[in-house]
Amino acid sequence: GVRDVDPLFPALAAPDTAPSGDALRFGDRSLTYSELALASAALAGRLRGAGRVAVWATPSLETAVGVVAALRAGAPAVPLNPKSGDGELTHIVTDSAPSLVLAGPGDVLPPALAGLSRVDVDVSDHRPGAGGAVAEPDDPEAPALIVYTSGTTGPPKGAVLPRRAIVATLDALADAWQWSGDDVLVHGLPLFHVHGLILGTLGPLRRGGSVRHLGRFSTEGVARELGSGATMLFGVPTMYHRIAEALPDEPRLVTALGGARLLVSGSAALPVHDHQRITSATGRRVVERYGMTETLMITSVRVDGEPRPGAVGVPLPGVELRLVDEEGEAITAAGPEAVGEIQVRGPNLFTSYLNRPDATARAFAPGGWFRTGDMAVRDADGYVRIVGRKATDLIKSGGYKIGAGEIENALLEHAGVREAAVTGEPDADLGERIVAWVVPADTGAPPAPDELTDHVAARLAPHKRPRAVRYLDALPRNDMGKIMKRALPHR
Ligand code: ATP
Ligand code: MG
Repeated sequence: GVRDVDPLFPALAAPDTAPSGDALRFGDRSLTYSELALASAALAGRLRGAGRVAVWATPSLETAVGVVAALRAGAPAVPLNPKSGDGELTHIVTDSAPSLVLAGPGDVLPPALAGLSRVDVDVSDHRPGAGGAVAEPDDPEAPALIVYTSGTTGPPKGAVLPRRAIVATLDALADAWQWSGDDVLVHGLPLFHVHGLILGTLGPLRRGGSVRHLGRFSTEGVARELGSGATMLFGVPTMYHRIAEALPDEPRLVTALGGARLLVSGSAALPVHDHQRITSATGRRVVERYGMTETLMITSVRVDGEPRPGAVGVPLPGVELRLVDEEGEAITAAGPEAVGEIQVRGPNLFTSYLNRPDATARAFAPGGWFRTGDMAVRDADGYVRIVGRKATDLIKSGGYKIGAGEIENALLEHAGVREAAVTGEPDADLGERIVAWVVPADTGAPPAPDELTDHVAARLAPHKRPRAVRYLDALPRNDMGKIMKRALPHR
């Protein structure tokens, strides 16, 4: 039925009063708010009653219009990673059973999608009156998006996200970041995960602001856009690493970042060393935020709060967060020894994993607390520091619980180290021993193992010294630049 609801995109619900500037720009193609309102309404008219729709999620206007249209039509959208192999696409399409796939007119779809009927998104279908009025779906609990997790720890799982969760997370971030319709976002992320799709695309559209997508991330693109009116940048740590490396040679980038209102990092831990290099070169801090596909955003450093490299900030408004010990008891102590699993409740949570009632049930502790699988500590004033994932980043060695992240941060401070990952391996005496995987910097001979373990021991407690150092040409990373520890050799 049609009922008055708080529209997801107020600026599209009333196009006559919409902001006059660009809503979206991808390369040299753009749409104003009134064009986006009409094009998405025209497509929404065709999607009403379609059930789930897959979206071939290239970084393009077509993807953005397709997802916005599906949301306005109440057709749950399933964004697909165009770089996935046929095996993963077949898994996702079989699991989510969409009735059709939305694509751009020029896109060539792979064999895995051959069985789906295809609807091309026409972003220029914005003749006045084309779509007529759109009544947004009235049930905030109905599935709005089905987003597959990044697959860092196993096969991707489809998280069913209701509109209620999307609204909750975007409005909480607006509060934490003083995010408004005046903001112009520089975007260089893919559109099939929470970061690039919900935060980076739906977020500015909900605020009535503007998105400029780089197509492919480059430090030149960041300098150009922040140097010409853009106010904020969302990135993953590998992007901030490239920025930190480029700053000494690119004075335009220094000036551009120095003038930005907000630099945000998320999806993985931002190495402290990169954060500090950016701050010392530009005078700007990077705001870290932490979340998951299943929970959307959980914490962020607030723009009115103290910057603190290595910390992901405080729970967002509306989000309840607790740390829980191995017995399932909430931890009230603060400080580096009080490590517990992050559990969360709040309107930001997903409803279920698609087709996986057992996995859904296992993901919740009594009381409706979602188990993130991430371990953390808290500073005395409540700032959360992620120690790492329980499954891959918490090393139990000699009676200690040691987080891989702080050892990785220490290794990255060594000039001879470009990338670092730390894991635990079975050890007869210690239970587990600490192993450092290192990608040497391009310059000079790779640092010797002893030099690196001494470097760590000089910064951290003795039991955190790696027992072995292994050298690689590159670390295995997924499309968000996350280190896939399960793909390291000899494990
Ligand atoms: P899968 O669940 O399929 O193994 P994934 O957990 O990487 O993959 P996402 O939902 O995209 O899939 O990522 C969420 C995870 O990313 C979090 O659980 C956390 O481990 C990590 N993460 C996100 N933001 C941060 C951050 N700021 N600092 C540290 N870790 C982060
Ligand atoms: Mg996960």
